[in-house]
Amino acid sequence: MPLITLYEALKIAEKSNFAIGAFNIGNYESCKAVIDCAIEQKLPVIIQIFNRLFNDTKARDLSALVKGMAEYADIPIVLHLDHGKTITHVEKAIQYGFTSVMIDASEYDMEENIRLTKEVVDLAHSHGISVEAELGRLLPKGTIDQENFLTVPEEAKEFAETTGVDALAVAIGTSHGFYKETPFIDLERLKAIYALVQVPLVLHGGSCTPDAEVKKSISCGIRKINIATELHQAYINGMAIQAEIHKNKFSPIDVYNIPVYEKMKEVTGQKMAFFALRS
Ligand SMILES: [Zn+2]
Repeated sequence: MPLITLYEALKIAEKSNFAIGAFNIGNYESCKAVIDCAIEQKLPVIIQIFNRLFNDTKARDLSALVKGMAEYADIPIVLHLDHGKTITHVEKAIQYGFTSVMIDASEYDMEENIRLTKEVVDLAHSHGISVEAELGRLLPKGTIDQENFLTVPEEAKEFAETTGVDALAVAIGTSHGFYKETPFIDLERLKAIYALVQVPLVLHGGSCTPDAEVKKSISCGIRKINIATELHQAYINGMAIQAEIHKNKFSPIDVYNIPVYEKMKEVTGQKMAFFALRS
């Protein structure tokens, strides 16, 4: 079926009281693993492409792949720009047929974040696609005083209402990448944000966050959870095993990649079922 927007997908999540996994892909195998999992589990899925892949032709080529696979899939799929930083990223995503973009202006002050986000909302909505923005910042590694980085509930309400975004990424204690120590997820803050903000909430840094915390965050209103690190780590580990097995032997790369695809599928499948509260 044709791609759907993030707005439409998150309506399904809100109605079902669960979260949809948003997975960062980077090649054919990762794309195939994520979409096949969603088909098997009959769940909506968000395919994300990170801003770096817009620096050359990767985002353009991968978007054609996602759209092609979606045509043969009978589940709702969103194609989303992850951490768009500039209007150029957003314009390219529109040109490539993305159905959703994130504009991440969280490094700026509130006023500039609102200005840039609103500009993106006007542009994206005029093309019928959704916008996710971010308020507050994920914790840089080694942060001791996390309070300064976290989303302030009243500001989140003002931000969502002023910009007209379709989804809001909040900072409640997660980080991108691996954790050195177990993170403290501020669920009370999340509850306060959920009570004030009308748009669906997004959790970045979903990889390696303890399952119990993720489950609680879903019950407190998180509707989209981003996964990159764990999926990419499955790929790297799978490739390392294959490299050892096939050392000095010829192996066609499509065959070589099958166990790598399976490893990514395993990780994705667990996450998807968990976010849909099926395990
Ligand atoms: Zn992120």
